[in-house]
Amino acid sequence: MFTAFLIKYAEIGIKGKNRFLFEDALIGQIKYAVKKCEGEFLIHKTQGRIYVEAQTEFDFEETVGHLRRVFGISGICPVVYVEDQGFDRLCETIIRYIGEVYPERSKTFKVQARRARKNYPLDSMEINARMGEAILEAYPEMKVDVHNPDIVLNIEVREKIYIYSETIPGPGGMPVGTGGKAMLLLSGGIDSPAAGYMIAKRGVKLDAVYFHAPPYTSERAKQKVVDLARLLARFTGPVYLHVINFTDIQLYIYEKCPHEELTIIMRRYMMRIAEHIAQETGCLGLITGESIGQVASQTMSSLIATNEVCQLPVYRPLIGFDKQEIVELSEKIGTYETSILPFEDCCTIFVAKHPVTKPNLNVIRRHEHNLDERIEELVDTALKTKELMIAE
Ligand code: ATP
Ligand code: MG
Repeated sequence: MFTAFLIKYAEIGIKGKNRFLFEDALIGQIKYAVKKCEGEFLIHKTQGRIYVEAQTEFDFEETVGHLRRVFGISGICPVVYVEDQGFDRLCETIIRYIGEVYPERSKTFKVQARRARKNYPLDSMEINARMGEAILEAYPEMKVDVHNPDIVLNIEVREKIYIYSETIPGPGGMPVGTGGKAMLLLSGGIDSPAAGYMIAKRGVKLDAVYFHAPPYTSERAKQKVVDLARLLARFTGPVYLHVINFTDIQLYIYEKCPHEELTIIMRRYMMRIAEHIAQETGCLGLITGESIGQVASQTMSSLIATNEVCQLPVYRPLIGFDKQEIVELSEKIGTYETSILPFEDCCTIFVAKHPVTKPNLNVIRRHEHNLDERIEELVDTALKTKELMIAE
């Protein structure tokens, strides 16, 4: 029955003079999303509203599924649109609409007409009143309630007439790309994909970097990260995933530094390398899945140590989340099942029994000097042998 969607957007509505930039970005993201659906769609903006109109047969559930992953959309209203063939025909259409959408009809309603085309013979008040009467006549079990109705029946008179009453919630946020780009440190765990989602939701495009340590981490562990990047790409569009071979750096740190500081020093090298790629690719920040106190390397003291090596801001959107809250978010965005697949990540191989929880910066810096001889060359090689994949 439905042949179009009215797209509601919340926050981008308030952006003043830049509003059209946000709307155009949103239209771009919607086009990208529906390209993956069966059928052809026309997307257009009319008087501050975005419509997605099906030009062919399409799969309703599939299309709604894709639209629900477009940041910037606060609501998706399935629309029936008809040619203007006079008010009586419109009444028939509306009555049929209610019959199909609300089979159990004992509901309260109000009609909310908008006459965008001023030469329509009835004004909106008249449409409201006369349509209300027609509905009550057809369905005497329904009642009008103008203050708190179960159903708000919208009738928009434009070139065509648009009818809608249901709103499917969208993800909210801002259209991807309107906030610049950031580099996500993406591991195979639960946290980092959720962190990437949260920043992307604010309109930030994602690139990602994964530190791979073959043979200590398997091809399957890497594939899992690629799969996670793909799951994120459903929300963000293509994600450029940089895969760094981290083995030699890790072994070198293992050889030269106290084992209880391994994780911290390793994390500092991850951040340095991630920042290097970020700056080369125009990213304006780094993103990690850290949350205070989750593990030894995420105490506030440890975070000072990891932060110290970066110039770019490090965004840690999960910083105040409990594990359970992160799990719920990852379930909601569909990454959880993949994240919990039991493949080792590169940090679990080299973890010490008693990692420092309050690293002393001066001590860490001093121990890092043990690496002076070869570390630069190893980092260089890691960057040169970087593998780039596009997850989409
Ligand atoms: P996650 O669930 O995201 O793996 P975690 O709880 O395992 O996080 P850590 O291993 O301490 O936490 O990692 C903290 C953050 O560092 C991760 O959220 C991620 O952003 C980044 N990170 C850790 N390991 C890697 C890796 N191998 N490649 C890329 N980023 C990583
Ligand atoms: Mg991890």
